[in-house]
Amino acid sequence: MAGADQKHLFINNEWRPSASGKTMEVVNPATEEICAIVASGDTADLDAAVLAARGALNGPWGQMSARERGRLVRKLGERLMERADEVARLETLHNGKPIMESRHIEIPAAAECFEYYGGWSDKVMGETIPVKGNYLNYTLREPLGVCAAIVPWNFPLLIAVWKIAPALACGNTIIVKPASQTPLTALALGEIAIEVGLPPGVLNILTGPGAKLGQAIVEHPGIDKIAFTGDTSTGKSIMKGAADTLKKITLELGGKSPNIVLSDADIESAVRGVTIGIFYGKGEVCAAGSRLLVDKSIKNEFIDKLAARAKKMVAGDPMDPKTRFGALSSRKQMETVLRYVASGKQEGATLVAGGERTDIGTGKGFFVQPTVFADVTPEMTISREEIFGPVLTAIEFADLDEAIARANDTPYGLAAGVWTKDIKKAHYVARKLQAGTVWINTYNVYDTATPFGGYKQSGFGREMSAHALEHYTQIKSVWVDLNM
Ligand code: NAD
Repeated sequence: MAGADQKHLFINNEWRPSASGKTMEVVNPATEEICAIVASGDTADLDAAVLAARGALNGPWGQMSARERGRLVRKLGERLMERADEVARLETLHNGKPIMESRHIEIPAAAECFEYYGGWSDKVMGETIPVKGNYLNYTLREPLGVCAAIVPWNFPLLIAVWKIAPALACGNTIIVKPASQTPLTALALGEIAIEVGLPPGVLNILTGPGAKLGQAIVEHPGIDKIAFTGDTSTGKSIMKGAADTLKKITLELGGKSPNIVLSDADIESAVRGVTIGIFYGKGEVCAAGSRLLVDKSIKNEFIDKLAARAKKMVAGDPMDPKTRFGALSSRKQMETVLRYVASGKQEGATLVAGGERTDIGTGKGFFVQPTVFADVTPEMTISREEIFGPVLTAIEFADLDEAIARANDTPYGLAAGVWTKDIKKAHYVARKLQAGTVWINTYNVYDTATPFGGYKQSGFGREMSAHALEHYTQIKSVWVDLNM
């Protein structure tokens, strides 16, 4: 489209068109207009990026002191915050999320992640081990080498930074492949990398289709590790594909997270928390509390209040600072969500709020109303499959054991919530839930210092916190003969 921004690949601190000359269009989901054209990279571009990333490891980056490296990682965050208004606009432009979320939550969280891991750089240490015999034995914690980050479209910058920051802090180099729908904020990081003086080849950003470029990353013998966030089925294919070169992998996959409301919960705050749990980020959140499990005795009151609240959440222009509910990320995603809504109705669930495509007075955009289904049974498709949109399914339970059994009755295990005033019950349930994160009387709270990742088919490995450092380093044991 004339006037749409044209973006190149970022390799070795240079902006390059794809070797093939191919491009892809990026669509603003709130207006359905093309908002940018980006290069469509393939294997030739990947080879160039791997060469650059390998070169940086053997060059200034590999020789840089850990403290200096940490300083550069922190600077990435500082510069990101200086450019937060502009980067937040890009995030909203290609994703459709409210600018309030981009500007005040997600960009600051990404900047904080750089700050946190920059602080770790010079604290990643080996140990001396009291071995038998007259030997000195010590360990070195070394970088893995060239890492690749394959990133989804729901938190395009934040999820990329969860991978970039620990990778660089530990002395690796990285190639980032953002999702085709949302490449703009990762590309902005390329500009920031140059501005803060990151050496060439340390951070490379390749845009291109997942099936081709993503697959090529998985198979490339010059890549040592893949950090992936995305669909569970893609994660399985990456795990199989990475087997041939035995790459290290970490997978953050899908979820169908339960949010359990016990009869003694503070109803008002539980209604608020359950609403935020499913409708923040339009429900396109891997940890979304998409299955409400509510005690039978309070079910009617709870669902009435929830439906009333959902109906008040009206979709708005994502660029308007007052908007709290934006557009779904793509036509495809909107159609998927509407198909699930139709299946819920067909399988006999009761629609108590939303359920329709909507617009903001322009007749355009991939907007779907916040949707709540009551009378859902555990067998229904909408209570089993990840919808990845603003659709909540409410299921009742009779006692605590049934609540826990239902909560765990899913192949996923990313997150869970429990609402109760009884502290003993709260901790009991937290221990019984098979999930990587459990929130008690709150939902969707994150901090860079605390780990995030899945149980079961929600993946393995942890992002954020000190635990992520283990996924970007390897341990070498060194023996020295001290016998005289
Ligand atoms: P997706 O798996 O389709 O795409 C994710 C990324 O993988 C994109 O960059 C895509 O281009 C790439 N890709 C696609 N096919 C590939 C292949 N064969 N080989 C290599 N790369 C490939 O997922 P999505 O639709 O972008 O994201 C939504 C999913 O992500 C949901 O299931 C959601 O639950 C999950 N998610 C999980 C987390 C988490 O932390 N667990 C966070 C966010 C999203």
